[in-house]
Amino acid sequence: MNGLYDGFNRKVDYLRISITDRCNLRCFYCMPESGVVPKPHKEILSYEEIELFVRAAAEAGISKVRITGGEPLVRRDAAKLIEMISKVPGLTDISLTTNGILLPEYGDDLKKAGLRRVNISIDSLDPEVYRRITRHGDVKRALSGLRKAIELGFEPVKINTVLMRGVNDDPRAFIRLIYDYPIHIRFIELMPISRWDPNLFISVDEFKTKLATFGPLELVAGPQGAGPASYVIFKGALGTIGFISPMSNHFCSSCNRLRLTPDGKLRACLFSDVEFDIKPKLRDNIHGEEIITLVRNVLKNKPEKHDARKGETLERLMCQIGG
Ligand code: SAM
Ligand code: SF4
Repeated sequence: MNGLYDGFNRKVDYLRISITDRCNLRCFYCMPESGVVPKPHKEILSYEEIELFVRAAAEAGISKVRITGGEPLVRRDAAKLIEMISKVPGLTDISLTTNGILLPEYGDDLKKAGLRRVNISIDSLDPEVYRRITRHGDVKRALSGLRKAIELGFEPVKINTVLMRGVNDDPRAFIRLIYDYPIHIRFIELMPISRWDPNLFISVDEFKTKLATFGPLELVAGPQGAGPASYVIFKGALGTIGFISPMSNHFCSSCNRLRLTPDGKLRACLFSDVEFDIKPKLRDNIHGEEIITLVRNVLKNKPEKHDARKGETLERLMCQIGG
């Protein structure tokens, strides 16, 4: 059979690559206040090793790649990696998830390198709330990143907002933003990954009910790479609002993802701590065919679905896996 399939016959064509576990913010649900203990340089995959893996994966059937982290733009020359990957035959979509803080500085280079679209994480538009969530971040900088992304013509530009009860679940400022900009704001349910406080959880359904008090929501088709999100629009708005419900209505039956961590671990499911270390192989002159065999073996162990509702957190932090 052509392409990559897991043990449940799901086609896997989407690779998320975390290129660093470091970050310039400290979102309290993602990272400890002190950050992560930096890994020695030699434990992190080089761009050449990542490219080697991506070439083989693309040959086997991966067509979409997302670069993430930690904060991918704190790694030196992230644009160089985008440039290397954008030349890989078989890839039809390369995207980046970032907190946006460094987009004003690196946006031009990323665009020149071949990046066409970005997701920017902004959990609140209120400076105080944003500062509290990120522990020191300045929302003005994230918004400058958003404006830079729009100015550069990245398309689509999506915002990721992790919903937290009583913290950022007032939708009014976000609604105003989609009247100002042609962007797609996706509200995501908080997952029990790093620092889990069940009291903060709010389901997409409950939030939608809140949203609907501000006007009728009309279902619309999502932008490119809509994945598991569903989208609605408010009359006259330039942008849309999307919902991602990994907890209340998980989308495991159509999961098409494979993850590569900064230290070279292949992970078939975000919620399973089962990992396979491919770094030694990548450093041992492995051939494309052997990489593909490894990937197929890893995919055999992709669980049918997650059981994150149990609320057990994972051994790794989200910033170490790649969101
Ligand atoms: N630093 C970049 C950023 O913030 O966009 C990329 C990495 S971050 C880990 C990727 C995404 O994962 C962000 O949108 C973040 O909000 C989300 N995330 C992190 N921990 C999460 C959790 N426990 N539940 C839901 N989303 C989470
Ligand atoms: Fe950094 Fe992104 Fe995690 Fe926030 S969510 S601490 S920006 S990696």
